[in-house]
Amino acid sequence: MRYISTRGKAPVLNFEEVVLTGLARDGGLYLPESWPQFSTDDIRGLAGKSYADAAAFLLQPFLGDSISPADFREMTKKAYGAFSHRAVVPVSQLGSNEFLMELYHGPTLAFKDVALQLLGLLYDHLLARRGKRVTIVGATSGDTGSAAIEACRGRDAVDIFILHPKGRVSDVQRRQMTTVLDANVHNIAVEGDFDDCQAMVKAMFNDHDFRDELAVSAVNSINWARVMAQIVYYFTVGVSLGAPSRAISFSVPSGNFGDVYAGYAASRMGLPVEQLIVATNRNDILSRFFNSGEYRKAGVDPTISPSMDIQVSSNFERFLADLYGRDGAAVSDLMRRLDNDGGFSVEMSRLNESIFSAGRCDEEETLATIGRTLEETERLVDPHTAVGLFVGDKCRKDSSTPLVTLSTAHPAKFPDAVEKATGERPKLPKHMQNLFGRKERLTDLPNDIDAVKSFIKERARILNAA
Ligand SMILES: *Cc1c(COP(=O)(O)O)cnc(C)c1O
Repeated sequence: MRYISTRGKAPVLNFEEVVLTGLARDGGLYLPESWPQFSTDDIRGLAGKSYADAAAFLLQPFLGDSISPADFREMTKKAYGAFSHRAVVPVSQLGSNEFLMELYHGPTLAFKDVALQLLGLLYDHLLARRGKRVTIVGATSGDTGSAAIEACRGRDAVDIFILHPKGRVSDVQRRQMTTVLDANVHNIAVEGDFDDCQAMVKAMFNDHDFRDELAVSAVNSINWARVMAQIVYYFTVGVSLGAPSRAISFSVPSGNFGDVYAGYAASRMGLPVEQLIVATNRNDILSRFFNSGEYRKAGVDPTISPSMDIQVSSNFERFLADLYGRDGAAVSDLMRRLDNDGGFSVEMSRLNESIFSAGRCDEEETLATIGRTLEETERLVDPHTAVGLFVGDKCRKDSSTPLVTLSTAHPAKFPDAVEKATGERPKLPKHMQNLFGRKERLTDLPNDIDAVKSFIKERARILNAA
């Protein structure tokens, strides 16, 4: 498989290069040149397979000859062996023809584990083979940091440094990061806010000497391998509910458009999908786009579903490329208008045939949905999942088609919102209940780029290996 940039001006790469490169040199995102095709018999054949085997089977065409099938099979087994549920991504029934896809059984209780657990192993495998190491540097307001740390802990080719704003992440979020004691994991509590942390990470990327010396890499939400790994659960869950003999609809709580784009990829690969419902909170650039054709930036408004608080959706460019028949010049032009004019419009006729629908859910509706779901089904759901349930219900066209809402986080990750909605404080799952008894390791640093840089230089193994 070869990979091309959405903007058409960067070199064509193979899988190995795409995983290690992240962003394309022309500013675009990498996409597979064509979508692998699976027949109805191929899809039916997934029914008896374990999740790891299904992943190995579905993703093999994306790898080309970058990784042998046997090595990749080992990786999927290891990545998904770290999940606490044997099915990895189980489905449960909420109502007649309504289902919940439980994506929160990974080590940090959020759906990002599904992709990052595999990405950590891919990095290690590809780098070790080249005799190389990287230094991953990232800023987090809570969730992505812990998923990235869990994915990189103990990996020989990777050192990871995560900056979080001191005292401004929840106790659960901090402990999920700081109780990981592997020697290659470094948590830095910055005396500042999230924007200070992010500004320092940006400054480190823009310091080319520092960046080259340490082989700095990002915990990249636009890395192709992350989208790729997310394709799998649309197939496995679809098959468990009757695909390919019948079509399935999905409602996806969305921010950066990575998760729902993977559902689109699954449909292009042969899975019969009736509707893909893009569910946003009040940061609704995606919902506005699918309903009007206008893609326009707005400020970020903090919500109780913070993992979807975004200004623009970084993966959306991949969908635009398909919408414009992979015309790199057209995509570049749209992205230029986004930068210069704050937005652009796409003719609605381009969207007419699409399987997408979209809607938004405000804060009161999110809380009310958590409450109503508990009353009707005796289940606690997290605020992101509630957004998916609310918008799914609003946008669903045909109630005879199974509707699967993606449950992207465990309710115990967002206990305050859940308690506010229901009066019940959700409990951490058994295997995490000792989180508050575990030893923490972190370093407090001032909001000072030089202090952070020297801390990293003293510890990154790329400079300090024996
Ligand atoms: C990241 C995240 C989302 C949004 O996913 P995108 O791929 O960015 O659209 C939704 N819910 C939770 C809990 C998340 O962590």
